[in-house]
Order: sequence, then C-alpha cells, then structure tokens
Amino acid sequence: MRAIRVHEFGDPDVLRLEELPEPRPVDEEVLVRVQAAGVNPVDTYVRAGAYGTLPALPYTPGSDAAGVLQDGGARVYVAGSLSGTYAEYALCRRDQVYLLPDQLSFAQGAALGVPYVTAYRALFQRAHAVQGETVLVHGASGGVGLAAVQFALAAGLTVVGTAGSDAGRELVAAQGAESVFDHRDPLHLHAACQAVGGRGFDLIVELLANVNLGDDLSALAHGGRVVVVGSRGTVELDPRDLMNTDGAVLGMLLPNATSQDLSAAHAAVGKGLREGSLRPVVSRELPLAEAPRAHRHLMERPALGKLVLVP
Ligand code: NAP
Repeated sequence: MRAIRVHEFGDPDVLRLEELPEPRPVDEEVLVRVQAAGVNPVDTYVRAGAYGTLPALPYTPGSDAAGVLQDGGARVYVAGSLSGTYAEYALCRRDQVYLLPDQLSFAQGAALGVPYVTAYRALFQRAHAVQGETVLVHGASGGVGLAAVQFALAAGLTVVGTAGSDAGRELVAAQGAESVFDHRDPLHLHAACQAVGGRGFDLIVELLANVNLGDDLSALAHGGRVVVVGSRGTVELDPRDLMNTDGAVLGMLLPNATSQDLSAAHAAVGKGLREGSLRPVVSRELPLAEAPRAHRHLMERPALGKLVLVP
C-alpha cells in the first residue's frame, strides 16, 4: 500500500509517500480501507518533534479517517489508529472504529474523530454546559470550533463565534451563531460581550489561549468558565479578573479522556449526525502525496473547516 512515512522529525517535507506492506489485523484489530484522512494540528506538532509524547521513527501520521472495513465493507469513521491514517489502509482496534451514517461523505467522516470528540469534551465533560447558557467559541472557523458551535446550538446554548477571515465569519454565521467577530480586531471581545447584553459569557471555548486567555477572564459572566482547548505559548493574566466573577479556567487534553468519556462522546456524535445537528464542514481535499502541502496550509491559511487527505 501507499502510505506517508516520517523518518526524522522536521519541517513538512519529512512527510514522504512510500510503498509499505499492507497491515494484517490480529485478534480484536480491524483493517480499514481509507477513503479520507483528517489532518489535525497535533499531526504537525508531532511531525516537528514538538509534542510531549512522540512515536518511534519511522511512523505514519494521522489518527482520524473514514473508509470501509476490509472485512464486511461497512462504512466507518476512525478515531485513533495503531498504524496511522495517512495511508491506503489503517490498522485499528475495534473500539477505534464507529459506523458512518450513509448521508455523510468519507471526507466528512474524516473530520469527526479529534475535532468532534474534543468539542464535546470541552463543552459538556469539562465545562458542564447547559441549555440557556451563552458560549463564546473563540476560534470558531476550524475543525474543533465548528464542531463546538454545532454541539452548543443543538444543546440550546446561545452561540457567539470568532474567525480571522471574512469567509470564516460567513461560515460560522451560516452554522447558526448569533453573531461572529474578528479575533484579529483588538476590540472584538468588547463587541462580543455587547452581543450578549453586556453580561459576559457563561462559557468560553478557547482555541488560542496564549493570545486570548488574559482578556477572556474579563469577558466572563458570574460563575463563567473558560475551557482551554488550544494554546501555542505563554500568556499574562490578572487573577483578580477571575476572582471578580467567581470564574474558573479549565484545561483539557483529549488523551486524558477515559474510555467511558470517549464512549459518551462518540454516542453524542452518532446521535447528532443521525439527527442532522452535526454536519462536518470540509474545506479542502488534497491527494495523499500532498501531505506536506496540507500541513503547511493547516498552519498558515485561515481555517474554513476541515482539511483532508485522499489516498
Ligand atoms: P484549525 O482547524 O486549524 O483551526 C484553528 C482555529 O484557530 C481557527 O478557527 C482559527 O481562526 C483560530 N484562530 C486563529 N487565530 C486566533 C486567535 N487570535 N484567537 C482565536 N482563535 C484563533 O485547528 P483545530 O483542529 O480547530 O484546533 C484548534 C486548536 O485546538 C489547535 O491549537 C489544536 O492543537 C488544539 N486542539 C487541542 C485539543 C486538546 O485535546 N486540547 C484537541 C484538538 C485540537 P482563523 O483561521 O479564522 O483565524
């Protein structure tokens, strides 16, 4: 099979297309013929060697995909893989594979694993979001942000989002967000608070905490919570802003989720897909061989949903 291999950590050009033997499943493993593989920011951190836990070299990147089970032909999406998903075939544990409803394309299925489970965990397992609350999705145009917007709307929250481009703001508004602001505008948080009556937010899902966390604390309503999902550096903040509202800052990292947490999240994803409240948005499909370009695009271009690789 053809697969992307990384022999040394480094810039995107270390992602090389190679021929490999097809993996063979044993015991509780299954083989998935990959039709689309999701590209996540964490794939780029690992490729660069800049992540807490690194795989042994050489390795095939990727944990998200959608395709068909080699045995039986069922349509599935993949959330985690033993062999990596940037390939024609991915070896998975049975519990890493979930049925993909017929109305979803394979590219949409590749957008589910990390983004939707992260969004669910941030909103409901960490911040305990409830109907009627207000939420600011700070970075709503990407894979996790759009998933958070859709989950929050389905749960009856009032959603305000941010995006850095006109097209991103249009996309977030089209999902049903009450209003959408430009996170590059220094005054955007003030405007976002005005959009919910000047009271501040019950919840902020933060996708770039190193830039925004300090200001987020003064945009919270009484008892508000910020969930830090993404951060790429350090930040200065004034703890008094948190004291003023009895506010809280919560962290989350997907690998910390227990198997019960993951089961609950995937059950919620399945329900939302069946009911139509969850509709993954694919920004772009690139051929597998263009994995280096995909990694560059992900880090350099405005987000408009999910970037996927097609073997
Ligand atoms: P993505 O699809 O590349 O989206 C990145 C998002 O960040 C876009 O909405 C982008 O908006 C937004 N952004 C850029 N500048 C911003 C700013 N100044 N303020 C607020 N948002 C800003 O990536 P993703 O898959 O959604 O992941 C987002 C982040 O979450 C990444 O850092 C990722 O590593 C992290 N993450 C963490 C976990 C976890 O377990 N904690 C799991 C998944 C992802 P524009 O492009 O429109 O400017």
